[in-house]
Amino acid sequence: MEKKKTKKKEVPVSVKGMHDIYGEDFYRYQGFIEKASEVAMYYGFTPIETPTLEDEAVFTSGVGKNTDIVEKEMYELKTKGGSHLVLRPEGSAAVMRAYLENGMQSWPHPVMFYYSGNFFRHERSQKGRYRQFKQFGLESLGSSKSIMDAIIIHTTMTVLCAAGLKDLTIEINSIGGEDSREKYLKELTSYYRKNINDMPTAEQKRLKTNPLRLLDSKDPKMIAINEDAPDSISSLTPADRQHFKEVLEYLEELEIPYVINNHLVRGLDYYTRTVFEIYQGEPKKKESEENGESKKDDENENTNQEGSARIALAAGGRYDNLSESLGSKKNVPGVGVAIGIDRILMLDDAKKLTPKLVKKPKVYFIQIGFEAKLKSLHIIEILRKAHIPIKQTLNKDSLSAQLGLAEKLEIPYCIIFGQKECLDNNVIIRNMETHKQDTVNIDDLKDHLKTLK
Ligand code: AMP
Repeated sequence: MEKKKTKKKEVPVSVKGMHDIYGEDFYRYQGFIEKASEVAMYYGFTPIETPTLEDEAVFTSGVGKNTDIVEKEMYELKTKGGSHLVLRPEGSAAVMRAYLENGMQSWPHPVMFYYSGNFFRHERSQKGRYRQFKQFGLESLGSSKSIMDAIIIHTTMTVLCAAGLKDLTIEINSIGGEDSREKYLKELTSYYRKNINDMPTAEQKRLKTNPLRLLDSKDPKMIAINEDAPDSISSLTPADRQHFKEVLEYLEELEIPYVINNHLVRGLDYYTRTVFEIYQGEPKKKESEENGESKKDDENENTNQEGSARIALAAGGRYDNLSESLGSKKNVPGVGVAIGIDRILMLDDAKKLTPKLVKKPKVYFIQIGFEAKLKSLHIIEILRKAHIPIKQTLNKDSLSAQLGLAEKLEIPYCIIFGQKECLDNNVIIRNMETHKQDTVNIDDLKDHLKTLK
C-alpha cells in the first residue's frame, strides 16, 4: 500500500517588517528608553501609556482621512461586536484622546507627557522602516506659547545627544495656523493648477485632497515643479510669523543648529505653525542645486550633498487644531515629537545605554545531580535576597564544561553544588581569577556572600 504523504508543517515566521528583540538588542532598546525617560522627567514631562488599539476615529478624525498614514498604512480590524479598531500608527492623536477623555482640562497647564511603545504602519519595509517600530514621544497639551515648541525640540536634542548622536540638524518650517493656511493653500493650488499638465496623474488627484503633500513629493517631475512653488512662510499672518520668529530665537539662544526647509510640511493634517524633522549629517541641499535629481523615495527621507538617502531620526510639530478635529468644543493647543528608536540604535555612534535593572552576573551557579538541583532552589533564593545576580545552566552536568562557560562569560565567581556538598550542607565558592576555592556551610552563605568583591 502506498504511504500517504504527510505535508510537512512549516514553522511560522514573524510578520514582514516586525522583529523579535532579545539579548543585547533588548537591553539597548531598554537602555535608550530609560535614558530618554530620565531626560524628559528632568524637563517636567510625566509618563503616559495609551492602549495599542484605538477606535479608528481617533486617527481618521485626528490625523486626517487623506493622509498616507490613514489612507494606506493603518492596520485595521473589525471586532466581533462590530467596532472598527486600528493598531495605533502614531502617538499624538491618542494622547490628545486620553487628555480629553480623562478630564485633564482641569489639570495645571501645559500637561506634559512622555511615552514609548510600539507603533504600526503598513509601509514598504526596508532598513530603518518597519511595520512595527518603536517611538519615544513627547507631547505638551494646553499651551500655544512658542517656548513650548522650543522645549520640545530642546528635550529631543538632549535625548539624542545623551544617546551619543553627533552632527544633528533640525529642519524646520512654519505652515501657519488656519488663516495663514487658507491663504497659502489658495496660492499653492493656483500654482499647481498652472502646472497641472506637467504633473503625474496621481499628483493631479492629490491636488484635490491634500495639496500640501505635493510639496514633498518624490516624483522627479514634481521636484522640478516644486522648485518655484510658493513657500508657506510668505503667507504667514503676523501672529504666526511672530510665533515662528520666536521659536527660531529660542533655538539660537540654545545654540541648536537649524535650517529652514520651505518644503517641509509633514504628512499629517493636524499640524499647524511649527513643523520640524531632525537628521544626522549635512542639511538638505536645495533641489535647484541638485539639478532636479533627488533620490528621495519616501517621507521622512531626504538626500545629503553626496546624494545618499538620510532618514529622519525624529519629527514633530504643533497641532493646535487636533482637539477640535477630535470633537472637543474647547481648543487645546499642543506640540509634540516622536523619536524613532529603531533608527537611532541603527547608527554607528549610538551609545550602548545599559538599563538600570540589568546587572552582569556575579555568580555562575553550578549544580550537579538531582539532589543538588532539588536543594539548589533554596540556595538561589539566598543569592536573590543578597542581591547577587546569577547565571545558571540547568542542562549541563559536566563540571568542567560549566566552569569553561563561566570563564568565557567572565563571571567572577562560581558556586559549585554537587552530590557531596548537598549531603554536607555546603557549597564550594570558586574565585575564577585566582582559582581559590572555599567550602562554605549553607547556613553561613548569606554572611559569606558579603565578603565577595
Ligand atoms: P512620524 O510619526 O512619521 O512623524 O515619525 C517620527 C519618527 O518615527 C521618524 O522620524 C522616524 O524616526 C520614526 N519612524 C516613523 N515611521 C517609521 C517606521 N516605519 N519604521 C521605523 N521608524 C519609523
